[in-house]
Amino acid sequence: MPINVLFSARPERWDTYQAPLHKAFKDNGLEVNLARDIAPEKVDYIVYAPNGDLNDFTPYTNCKAVLSLWAGVEKIVVNQTLTQPLARMVDHGLTQGMIEWVTGHVLRHHLNTDLHVVGQDGVWRDYVPPLAQDRPVTILGLGALGTSCGQALAGLGFPVTGWSRTAKEVEGLTCLHGEDGLTQALQSAEIIVLLLPLTAGTENLINAERMAQMKKGVCLVNPGRGPLIEDEALLAALDNGTVGHATLDVFRVEPLPPEHPYWSHPKVTVTPHIASETRPVTAVQVIAQNIRRGEMGDSFLHLVDRTQGY
Ligand code: NDP
Repeated sequence: MPINVLFSARPERWDTYQAPLHKAFKDNGLEVNLARDIAPEKVDYIVYAPNGDLNDFTPYTNCKAVLSLWAGVEKIVVNQTLTQPLARMVDHGLTQGMIEWVTGHVLRHHLNTDLHVVGQDGVWRDYVPPLAQDRPVTILGLGALGTSCGQALAGLGFPVTGWSRTAKEVEGLTCLHGEDGLTQALQSAEIIVLLLPLTAGTENLINAERMAQMKKGVCLVNPGRGPLIEDEALLAALDNGTVGHATLDVFRVEPLPPEHPYWSHPKVTVTPHIASETRPVTAVQVIAQNIRRGEMGDSFLHLVDRTQGY
């Protein structure tokens, strides 16, 4: 009997994922009926992204797991009808994309690239930036993405401090956790990268009080989630110089409305939630592996802790 896998995401995702999923199932020795419409009680697994039309998981009584195509699960984790195990996406391609985006934006600020790229005006500005070793960076969130980005930056010579909820040891990084750890992590950095999930514990984490603890002129880089930052407080901190620049990829409302002050603020760079994306070629292997594990009775990889919300 084939395994019934329901695909629930935006219609165009079906075109992107269908062929790679079939290949990954075959590579993993799985006989699968993959479809966008299957009688709910017959569904064994759901490959899921929140922007499809599936909102009620109640009829999927025999579903063994919901496998998210997204790393961030804040939209699905609050769904009361979801009683099945939920796995989030940890994908090599997604991680690599985030490393490249974070490294690029950190280097932009570190080297002050804009001075020459944007301000080419006939003035010979012989500004020489410090070496990376003299530019402390903090990464808030030491998960799949934060750890990899932190290690990439450490590899370039930046002294990197990482902060997480629970205690961690990561080679090449100074690791802090908890409230005391946060103060230290914020105070020590010239560039702060937010790679936290959005949960009740992280929403509005970067508020006026916390920004006041940062080094004057600090640069914030947020590819995590918009509501990690209190927008009004950030705009005030940019205006009074507490924060020197904010590079923001994610927002409370997306797309960011045209009238939002971030668009025109001289100290804000807006990118349209493109820091990184799940890459079908690598992500389908993660999905197939998890289905194989489920069929063999092994525990699922990358399970979401529903009480923590990530
Ligand atoms: P993980 O779940 O692997 O890591 C989350 C990290 O955040 C962990 O280190 C965790 O701590 C820490 N954390 C969670 N809650 C708290 C808290 N209350 N206090 C301190 N630390 C906390 O997530 P990923 O690294 O895979 O992804 C991070 C986020 O990046 C995603 O949730 C998503 O929002 C965002 N993202 C953005 C993309 C974009 O294109 N802009 C693309 C993909 C993801 P601990 O280790 O102790 O559990």
